[in-house]
Amino acid sequence: MNAVGVDVGGTKIAAGVVSPAGEILAEARHPTPHSPEKLVEVIVRAIGEVRDGNEVDGVCLAVPGFVLAPEDRVVFSPNLRAIEGIPLKEKIGPEIGLPLIIENDANAAAWGEFRFGAGSEVDHLIFLTLGTGIGGGVISHGVLLRGAQGSGGELGHVTVHATGPRCACGNRGCLEALASGTAIGRRAREAAVENPGSALGRLAARRKVLGEDVTELARDGDGVALSVLEETGRWLGIGLAGFVNIFNPEVAAVGGGAMEAGDLILAPARRELRLRARPPSRDLVEVQAATLGPASGVLGAAALARNADGQYALGD
Ligand SMILES: [Zn+2]
Repeated sequence: MNAVGVDVGGTKIAAGVVSPAGEILAEARHPTPHSPEKLVEVIVRAIGEVRDGNEVDGVCLAVPGFVLAPEDRVVFSPNLRAIEGIPLKEKIGPEIGLPLIIENDANAAAWGEFRFGAGSEVDHLIFLTLGTGIGGGVISHGVLLRGAQGSGGELGHVTVHATGPRCACGNRGCLEALASGTAIGRRAREAAVENPGSALGRLAARRKVLGEDVTELARDGDGVALSVLEETGRWLGIGLAGFVNIFNPEVAAVGGGAMEAGDLILAPARRELRLRARPPSRDLVEVQAATLGPASGVLGAAALARNADGQYALGD
């Protein structure tokens, strides 16, 4: 049966009706409102729009931040404060009259890649999404790791540098603070100051440099921009080495906006992983780009809604 996946992001809300084979049959998008009442209203409206004319039997909301599953709410969400504390099932469930489950957005995206994307041929997958922050998800033996409270799999908030930069979560030196799109932007601005004559330095003199600028300049051959991505990839590899040792995945899929840089980040990450992780895990794992792009959240959420029996295991 078809299900609805809703990906609630910091800037937009995307809802889709998805078939069991992973085909998106209807879609709706709205800008994310930043007040709790409006947020609930727009989520309900988006679900209503995509349901219209489609048979569906469940909904999963993929939400940003740390989820407290027994209470169906988000405890902490630095990029969408308005969602914090809302009893989502209680507020939205009665409005839609369908079974509703709540999942962390990166866990849902990991499930999407597992069912339909980079991990569709394997049983053991780790997934990272490099955007404003870093989301993570772990699938082991075909089961999504959720932990005791639904807050497991937060790979972006593992400390990789004890005295590193401050993270959005309040900690220092999280992987997110060193390898996210935001971290690329920060590192690029620092490198621009040190190298004012580089293409990156000249751009920084005109306007604020963003993560995507760095990829473009690196592709044009600017050595300073390349070294910014190389350092980002090294930190990513340090994080991956730990995850590979712990989870022994077959595939480590990396997605998110920063993956526009592709191998400019993944090649140094693979090198660092090779230096730091141990056999046999490091020799098995394939570090590759995620394949579904931004649709992974909606696809994964819908697939989770279809399995809403609390087991989160593979199968319809
Ligand atoms: Zn953090």
